[in-house]
Amino acid sequence: MRIKPKPALLLLCSYMLAAWLSIRLGTIQSAYLVVIWLASGIAMMGAIQLGRQAYTVILIGHVLINFALYRQSQQQWFTLFPALLVSGGIDALQAWLGNYYYRRTRRYFGAEFWQKAAQLPRIWYQICAIPVLLTTPLLVLLWYGMGLIQAHNWSEWAMITFIQALSNFAGVLLLLPLLEDWRQQRLQPVLRQGLPLLVGLSLLVGVALFVDRHLMILSLPVMLYIAIRHQISGVHLGLLLVGLLCALGGHFGGSGFIGDTPTETFLNLQLFIFSLAFTFQFHALIQQEKAQQTANLEAEVAARTNALMQANKHLSELATTDELTQVYNRREWQRRCAEAVVRARRYKQALSIILLDIDHFKKINDQHGHLLGDLALKHLSRLCSQHLRAIDTFARWGGEEFVILLPDTELEQANLVAEKIRGLIERNPLLVDQRPPIHFTISLGVTALSVMDLTLDDLLGRADEALYVAKASGRNRVINSASVSTSYLSPGSSHHR
Ligand code: GH3
Ligand code: MG
Ligand code: MG
Repeated sequence: MRIKPKPALLLLCSYMLAAWLSIRLGTIQSAYLVVIWLASGIAMMGAIQLGRQAYTVILIGHVLINFALYRQSQQQWFTLFPALLVSGGIDALQAWLGNYYYRRTRRYFGAEFWQKAAQLPRIWYQICAIPVLLTTPLLVLLWYGMGLIQAHNWSEWAMITFIQALSNFAGVLLLLPLLEDWRQQRLQPVLRQGLPLLVGLSLLVGVALFVDRHLMILSLPVMLYIAIRHQISGVHLGLLLVGLLCALGGHFGGSGFIGDTPTETFLNLQLFIFSLAFTFQFHALIQQEKAQQTANLEAEVAARTNALMQANKHLSELATTDELTQVYNRREWQRRCAEAVVRARRYKQALSIILLDIDHFKKINDQHGHLLGDLALKHLSRLCSQHLRAIDTFARWGGEEFVILLPDTELEQANLVAEKIRGLIERNPLLVDQRPPIHFTISLGVTALSVMDLTLDDLLGRADEALYVAKASGRNRVINSASVSTSYLSPGSSHHR
């Protein structure tokens, strides 16, 4: 076993200090009625933290402090010393049992150990109570053997054992939870922010102990506030303070818990400390659980909202894009076009549109298959998208027809754009793997917004007529609505849509 000198020394000193405090300042009249045997809590913390070497330290500490405290008693050192070795051994055994049950309970509850209110009864019972209940009768027997205590009947024996067990239990109950807080680094924030509140609580308990015992009831709302404000760690610190003060008050004759007999005083005190501890530890953990649940819920809501937003985004993409070519679909183009028309009218700007259609596309399909026809549509879409301005909107109108919205563009400029695109398609055949290039051309109809246009269909109708003329006059060309003479128009000319 490798000795860690610093923690071992810390354990030794704190054990002896706790024992000294308990014996010197925490007793009620009879030397063996210690209100809170703080040393049992310290010993258990030491055992959990340090493991095996803690037991030796506890034994040494126990012998040293008791020897120092009782050396003036009637006991001879050669009888006192072995007895102290035995009682120190019993203290170490209690710490060992505490450590054993701590590990067992920790394993049982897993990652959520000491995090849920429903675990507390098991923790109180197994870790705090069982080790104490198993070892206290041994101690009482030892003291009886040494002649330190006398009892006249069974009920007196039972009472002495009970009181001693409660005092050890309280020592564990008030100190051990702080180890968990310390391990999870929850103590510093409470000490930083909650100190005034803890001092206030101490003052209140002090006044209640020595001035007016009725004020003790006010410690309840204060503890409640501490539980709400500083959660479980605040409660643990508050409980330790109240417990210590009550023990001190009992020693210095504070009126707070005085009963007719020392035993009654002792039990009054214990009743108060245990009620306070059980109630507020439980309350604080419930509160912590609720806060955790709320945080989890909020995280889940955030995650779901995010997923919903993603899904919405995806849906709106689906609703506005053409699946094959990934350019805007007809509906989105119409929406944008309607908006652009309103804006153009409002700011008195020009607006043009181009309708384009692949020439003899059926032949491409027939000669190369539908798959290559699809590739041709994608190829055209990519080329057009790349060569248009960012404010222009290119969309698939349907089949092998496409449409372009050109905001802030006069008819002549639109004509140029159309001509540029026509040339672009003509010069850039579709290249697929090792196949020979697939050449194809497009025909385009161009028109500009006029004050006479009442609906989008008026505008589109003109573009469609121009396109029809382009087809009729030989394909692979641009025709604008201004150059379309009515003579070209036949009654069924809107067949393109
Ligand atoms: P025109 O020069 O008069 O426009 O002749 P065209 O053959 O291009 O015109 P038509 O409207 O007669 O035929 C269009 C063809 O486009 C018919 C249809 O099978 C094909 N087509 C429509 N949508 C798709 C598509 O998504 N993929 C493929 N591969 N072909 C399509
Ligand atoms: Mg067509
Ligand atoms: Mg066509």
